[in-house]
Amino acid sequence: MEQISILEGRQKQIFEKKKGVPQADIACDTSSLSGSVSQRACVFCGSRVVLYPVADAIHLVHGPIGCAAYTWDIRGAVSSGPELHRLSFSTDLQEMDVIYGGEKKLYHSLIELIEQYKPKAAFIYSTCIVGLIGDDIDAVCKKVAKETGIPVLPVHSEGFKGTKKDGYKAACHALMKLIGTGSTEEISKYSINILGEFNLAGEAWIIRKYYEKMGIEVVATLTGDGRIDAVRRAHGATLNVVQCSGSMTWLAKEMEEKYGIPYIRVSYFGIEDMSKSLYDVAKYFPDRPDIMEAAKQVVSEEVKTLYPSLQKFKKALTGKKAAIYVGGAFKTFSLIKALRSIGMSVVLAGSQTGDKNDYARLKEMCDEGTVIVDDSNPVELSKFILEKEADLLIGGVKERPIAFKLGIGFCDHNHERKIPLAGFEGMYNFALEVYQSVMSPVWQFAPRKGGTL
Ligand code: SF4
Repeated sequence: MEQISILEGRQKQIFEKKKGVPQADIACDTSSLSGSVSQRACVFCGSRVVLYPVADAIHLVHGPIGCAAYTWDIRGAVSSGPELHRLSFSTDLQEMDVIYGGEKKLYHSLIELIEQYKPKAAFIYSTCIVGLIGDDIDAVCKKVAKETGIPVLPVHSEGFKGTKKDGYKAACHALMKLIGTGSTEEISKYSINILGEFNLAGEAWIIRKYYEKMGIEVVATLTGDGRIDAVRRAHGATLNVVQCSGSMTWLAKEMEEKYGIPYIRVSYFGIEDMSKSLYDVAKYFPDRPDIMEAAKQVVSEEVKTLYPSLQKFKKALTGKKAAIYVGGAFKTFSLIKALRSIGMSVVLAGSQTGDKNDYARLKEMCDEGTVIVDDSNPVELSKFILEKEADLLIGGVKERPIAFKLGIGFCDHNHERKIPLAGFEGMYNFALEVYQSVMSPVWQFAPRKGGTL
């Protein structure tokens, strides 16, 4: 049994909050350390997760089949209509294409797909190999767009050229080309776009319902249950409301600069942040006090239903400890508050794409002794989970085996999940899932590992 050590070169991305000890800023926004087996996805995957929920577009991965397989049906993002997004198309580049170039293959694939599926637009993702062989995907997209009359948008997301965040930006670039091309007639002055909400298990519908009850028009949701025509008229909204800030702040800033639409950051996880999201939007329209009144009404009705059941979970979970490792740091803030509301503390908090401001806020929010990590790996996560004796890990599909191997509970809070965790009803689902996993009798058959390996 020995202590797990930290890889040389990783120390600056790990921080433990200690009283009275002067502590440097956490290093972040940097490429993953070679050989560290980062939990973070590549640039291509970053762009794929952002654009995936646009359900009436063709998503064609220009690259070897592995890239498409890796991101096939990557989110639990549901659609109220077409489901083209759930098909993963690939040009399946082979050795001969690498030698002679894949442009012809891309062109023919696009023509065939557009003819067969009649999409509203097509997104073409560049992968590592395409970056290496230098295919001119812009030229092919332009040619196909001219011939077919639909937008054909290149997404420059070669996997190796940065971090997952660069993929978010590549996706936003593609969206920016669509925004501003539709009519804004008949859009209300009291309108918003919901940015960074991906309709996992129908979450965008839950959030939309709250705003609509307040009398707010939702012009477009980017990209949950997304439609090309809605994206095209998004520049007609009065306010951008950004949830997943890591993926969509860049787009919000661009829209502010180009169309003068201001943006606010919100979170739909937990009672506190969900309520604040409604109030913050209502505050933006001070000439309509009825919007604020309606927001208060929504919050009071929802909390009245939710509160008693949360008390039941709190009774069982008080004193239990959680580790959080998710994509964006903004979600971590809400999770800390949500866990506290059901009696749990957080001993490890980390993200794949947090920036300096996010980590500064995280340091402020966390309790003494909490470990904060940027762009972590399975060995580090295991080490801190063991040392801090966490009872639960909150993460995504790649973190699930870590929790189960260590004999602790797990809650999937990533984009693959099939249960809505946003909104007030999402808070109930979250508390239920945490309770069921932490208190499960299965742990007597797979006992928790000790403080060392
Ligand atoms: S783009 Fe590159 S890093 Fe990403 S899945 Fe494809 S080969 Fe792997």
